[in-house]
This record gives sequence, C-alpha cells and structure tokens, in this order.
Amino acid sequence: MNDIRIEVSVLHKSFGDLDVLRGIGFSTPRGTSTVLLGPSGSGKTTLLRSLNALDPPDHGVVRIDDVSVDFSALPPGKAGRAAGARLRAQSRMVFQSHNLFPHRTVLQNLTEGPVVAQRRPPDEVVDEAGALLDQVGLSDKADSYRYQLSGGQQQRVGIARALALKPRVVLFDEPTSALDPELVGEVLAVIKDLASEGWTTVIVTHEIRFAERVADQVLFLDGGVIVEHGPPGQVIADPRGKNAPGGSCGAF
Ligand code: ADP
Repeated sequence: MNDIRIEVSVLHKSFGDLDVLRGIGFSTPRGTSTVLLGPSGSGKTTLLRSLNALDPPDHGVVRIDDVSVDFSALPPGKAGRAAGARLRAQSRMVFQSHNLFPHRTVLQNLTEGPVVAQRRPPDEVVDEAGALLDQVGLSDKADSYRYQLSGGQQQRVGIARALALKPRVVLFDEPTSALDPELVGEVLAVIKDLASEGWTTVIVTHEIRFAERVADQVLFLDGGVIVEHGPPGQVIADPRGKNAPGGSCGAF
C-alpha cells in the first residue's frame, strides 16, 4: 500500500443534459487535508458525494486505500451496489448540519454506529468515544441531549460521531455554512486539529482564510473541471481560474 489515500481519475457525472463533473482527476496523500474551492455550481459537492458513492459518477475510477471502484465498468444490480457500498464504508461524510439522534445522549450518538453496525466491543467503543469527545472539547457533554447543545457543539458531536466509525477519509460538505457566525470558529478549530492528528480530510468550504490555514492542497473547480491545484499559498493567492475564460470567483 502506497501513501496515496485517495486516487480519482477521469470522473464524469451528468444530471440529465448538465455535465457537472467533466474529467476530474487528483490524488491525496494519507494524513493530508484537501480543500475544494470554486464558484457555486462548479461541482464541489457532487465531487465530494462521488468519493462516497452517494451520487455514483457515470464514468471514472475512485480508489480509497484498498477499495477501488471503476464506475465505467460497474456491474449491474446487486454486485454494482455492493461495490458502491464498499467504497462508501471507507469514508464518512459530515454535512452542513448535524443529524444527531434527538432521543439519545451525546455518548450514545457516538457509540451506536460502532457497536451496532461495526459490531465492535462496547467497552472499547465507549472508551474511544470518551477520547473523541475530549478531542472535540465536549467531554462534559457526554450525557447531554441534542436540545441542550448549541449548533456549534452539535456539529462538533457530529464530527466526533464520524470519527468514531474510524473511516479512512472524512469528507466535509460546507460544515459551517448552517451555523451562526459566532459558532463557526469552534468548529473550524476542531477540523483543523484533525489534520494534525493524522486524519485524511476532503473539505468543501467557502471559508477562504480557513482553507489557507488548513489545506495541504487546494483544488479549484470551475465548470466541473479542476482549473488550478496546489498548495493554498499558490492557488488562493493567484487562482488561474480567476482569469480563465468563463472563470468566476463570484462565490468569494
Ligand atoms: P457546488 O457544490 O460547487 O455549488 P454542486 O455540485 O452542488 O456545486 O452542483 C453542480 C451543478 O449540478 C449545479 O448546477 C446543480 O444545480 C447541479 N446538481 C447537483 N445535484 C443535482 C441533482 N441531484 N439533480 C440535478 N442537478 C443537480
């Protein structure tokens, strides 16, 4: 196994007549943060969902660690769905808003997936969940319910819940866009720490300053293609997409 955790090649995805991804390819080394930037409608969320096989691409290959799916050659029916499910199990998606179970405590929200779906030993899972709550700064909230938490705290529990399942990759889809401005910082701080803990992340965000601080690489999408990629200092300081024909940085 080499050090490349995600490898994507020639990804295409259309919705009807609309070509949303038009030949995307990139790779991300293990333990790094990749930030997807670009104007609204450029395909960032669709790309993220492709990595997770939530919206399977029409063509192209996605590999995460030892699971590789060639969507151009996906067998029909059950076998194809099983391949998608294997890829999906490699990553966890954190959405704009947490979707915590309201009638379970914070700790139960973290332990349910690993114990029930992954059939891991409850004692071990509870210990790990405690450490994860500590990591996101919420060890005093283990017995709280969703209604007792702020939006930022709920989103931090949502992140800990994703980590509890030990994914190879954590995918963030605009994780702070549903939050009041004063709660954004605490969530971004938690995401930033993940990179230093060795997690591999892919993040769709409009928070440019955050992208500058957290990203090892930035992919700048426009019109379903990557128009620029590289370290944030290079891409954000002078994205070629700004000047590319039809390019727009209007979302910023
Ligand atoms: P971004 O995340 O960069 O804003 P998206 O990936 O959400 O862009 O969307 C890219 C384009 O694909 C948009 O024009 C959007 O309307 C379209 N799109 C996304 N999802 C669907 C869908 N399920 N059905 C039809 N069109 C979609």
